Amino acid sequence: MFDNLTDKLSKSIQKIRGQANLSEDNVKEALREVRVALLEADVALPVVKSFIEDVKTRALGKEVMTSLKPAQVMVKVVQEELIKVLGESTEGINFNAQPPVVILMAGLQGAGKTTTTGKLAKYLQERENKKVMVVSADVYRPAAIEQLQTVAEQVGATWFPSSVVDDPVTIGMTALQAAKKGYFDVLIVDTAGRLAVDDAMMKEIKSLQNTISPTETLFVVDAMTGQDAANTAKAFSDALDLTGVVLTKIDGDARGGAALSVKTITGKPIKFQGVGEKMEALEPFHPDRIASSILGMGDVLSLVEEVERKIDKKKAEKLAKKVATGNKFTLEDFQEQLLQMQNMGGMTSMLDKLPGMSNLPDMVKDQVNDKTTGRMLAVINSMTIKEKRYPQLIKGSRKRRIANGSGTTIQDVSKLLKQYTQMQKMMRKFKGKGMMKMMQKLGG
Ligand code: GDP
Repeated sequence: MFDNLTDKLSKSIQKIRGQANLSEDNVKEALREVRVALLEADVALPVVKSFIEDVKTRALGKEVMTSLKPAQVMVKVVQEELIKVLGESTEGINFNAQPPVVILMAGLQGAGKTTTTGKLAKYLQERENKKVMVVSADVYRPAAIEQLQTVAEQVGATWFPSSVVDDPVTIGMTALQAAKKGYFDVLIVDTAGRLAVDDAMMKEIKSLQNTISPTETLFVVDAMTGQDAANTAKAFSDALDLTGVVLTKIDGDARGGAALSVKTITGKPIKFQGVGEKMEALEPFHPDRIASSILGMGDVLSLVEEVERKIDKKKAEKLAKKVATGNKFTLEDFQEQLLQMQNMGGMTSMLDKLPGMSNLPDMVKDQVNDKTTGRMLAVINSMTIKEKRYPQLIKGSRKRRIANGSGTTIQDVSKLLKQYTQMQKMMRKFKGKGMMKMMQKLGG
């Protein structure tokens, strides 16, 4: 998402950055480009208007024009205003209420409500240590109830049975009683969506909201729907007391308009983003990080968090200890490192999050692509344990055997051995300084 917007914005911002002094004319020129970029990204018109107005007032004001580095300050202003549009701070589920905290899911059919219900249950169980029950109040589609049952089983949440002969309000009330009785921390209520906003649907979910008094009413919206997302958001927020928004399918090629419009239109924060079809593909929404990534500054913080979460701490510590005590860094250790790298989604997904990487030539990207890691691992896998521990044994005929066994070439094997030697040298350099220092160094 945002690729196009990032391209356009980076260009107009680079132009400004290149100037020592700003004049009213070139600020206006830059803002014209920003406006076009936002409109092309499908941001709702009222949001574009107020955004440009706010940036303009600040850009032509004292703050920017009289500063020592007006161009840099202008960039900062654009970034700050983007953050404002996206929602200032990261907000999670409100747990200040008496448990069970009830979360009502609202949105159009196909927006991703049922999927998000499963993802959210998983997220709250694993990250917030909550006991979660889910129930479907979609009495129009038996398949929807079954779908929720399937995702609940998948994530290990308790599924409260409901059926199409019940009415949604009764389902909500009985599930709530059961959640109280079972000492659940959270009850997530999935609801029926329609293809478009209609009165009957709104009435139904409104009466559900009135009777079960949820702590959270989350509006689930498909980021791919662009301008339509803004209209739907308006209708739902007029009819219901929303507490937050979940933006789904941002892994698709959405232009970003929904993300930039929905907070201003509903006045409610985007709390989570759906980044894929799998149950783990739900992330907290970080306005500041998204703003930076829109401006082509990369999402380094998310990357660091991802690394911390996905890395196997025990294995990393073992390796760190080895390095610290000066024990030999073997090919087995190297293999372990490569495997960890693969676990983190491979280099390509990591590169995407680094600043400026979108401008990296494809040739460079190809050199660190995930195929290379796979090939390196294949080579190591074809070695005997002895060879892994004493790589100096690997000469002519052993090289040929390893190449044949791994479906690579002798050159590949030699290349891997060279990379291993380089890594070993680096490890020696860091010996005694500890792994953490090295990680810090790598993280810049
Ligand atoms: P509902 O009708 O609102 O309950 O929508 P569903 O939960 O059934 O989702 C509709 C479709 O969107 C399904 O095929 C989901 O797998 C897909 N989907 C939901 N969230 C995401 C997401 O974040 N990314 C992607 N790529 N697909 C999603």
